[in-house]
Amino acid sequence: MMGSLLDHLVEITGHRDHDLLDISVMTALLNMVGVAEARVMELFQSRGELFVRPRVWISGGAVKTVDDEQVTAEQPGEPIVSFPGLVACIAQRKNRLEETRENGQHVLWIPIWQNDKVSTCLEIAHIQPFTAQMLQVMEGILSVYRNYQSLLDYSERDSLTGLLNRKTFDEKFARMVNAKPSESTAPDDGDRRHHHDVKSQWLAVIDIDHFKRVNDQFGHLYGDEVLILVANVLRTSFRAQDRVFRFGGEEFVVLLRSATLADAQMVFERFRSNIEQNSFPQVGQITVSIGFASISQETPVVILGRADQALYYAKDHGRNQVCYYDELLDQGLLQVGKKVESVEFFFDDPTDS
Ligand code: GH3
Ligand code: MG
Ligand code: MG
Repeated sequence: MMGSLLDHLVEITGHRDHDLLDISVMTALLNMVGVAEARVMELFQSRGELFVRPRVWISGGAVKTVDDEQVTAEQPGEPIVSFPGLVACIAQRKNRLEETRENGQHVLWIPIWQNDKVSTCLEIAHIQPFTAQMLQVMEGILSVYRNYQSLLDYSERDSLTGLLNRKTFDEKFARMVNAKPSESTAPDDGDRRHHHDVKSQWLAVIDIDHFKRVNDQFGHLYGDEVLILVANVLRTSFRAQDRVFRFGGEEFVVLLRSATLADAQMVFERFRSNIEQNSFPQVGQITVSIGFASISQETPVVILGRADQALYYAKDHGRNQVCYYDELLDQGLLQVGKKVESVEFFFDDPTDS
């Protein structure tokens, strides 16, 4: 028992990644407490309403995540009011609340409190009432989870917007590219074309248009406020399995999972339009430019370079638009591997003799 507890603690604290942390906590609950059903749920806001959606769960004696291949449907989440036990637990600022459902199931709600806020909670269901011993073991596992979660947030997230930071992007993106099925080890030269119905992974780089003007006209504090609000729109514009990062300054990056080209175009366009239609306090209207590319067999640097090239094209051609690298290439509007920035420095680069 002691040995297995330690094994689980080592497992839980051995990850520098929220997804793996969630999975190992679910595994510990499954193996040590024997719970039959449990979910790690994330709370998020959309149009002023609170929603809940599962991130990792136990089903049929196994741990599943939104990243699993079989879960490709959109998961908009359920309104939090569908879970009165959770609402009551948070309203009463409790660390846990037990409820009995109509089907006789005993359910435990455990919000993960961090500085008076809850963005993650656990829902644990059991056929019989939870015994004192079960509660004690769970409490032990969960306090490690809670503490470790805050540490991870601190190192993975950007402190202004709460989005994942650049370092996390580098790690996740490298892992995503490496994990690609490598049935064709040759670089994707002629075969990079995407048919509209083939699901793929996509990388988008998003940059706020004329952001310097916002700072100059309204001051840095209003600039920061705009960044926070743009981050909120980003959070609500993409699905649970997608990932949103603050790349630096007023630049953001989105990793879109298993979407067709048409889907990708649609969601990036919808986000662009959401921003254009949003009214920012004092500042009024702002717009964003977006460049995206498919996540192919190429290296992360190459893929990022392509999305960047498409972004610079959007900037050079009127801003407030979404550009797709392959399309620009096909239309002869971009050349492979050409650094767009170098054009700007063509005349005054001292090293360019
Ligand atoms: P473009 O449409 O070409 O992107 O124009 P831009 O003005 O947005 O581009 P540029 O890269 O020249 O300026 C970005 C500005 O973003 C410069 C910097 O003052 C501002 N900025 C970067 N990080 C922050 C931040 O954390 N807070 C605030 N308030 N401003 C920031
Ligand atoms: Mg900008
Ligand atoms: Mg910029």
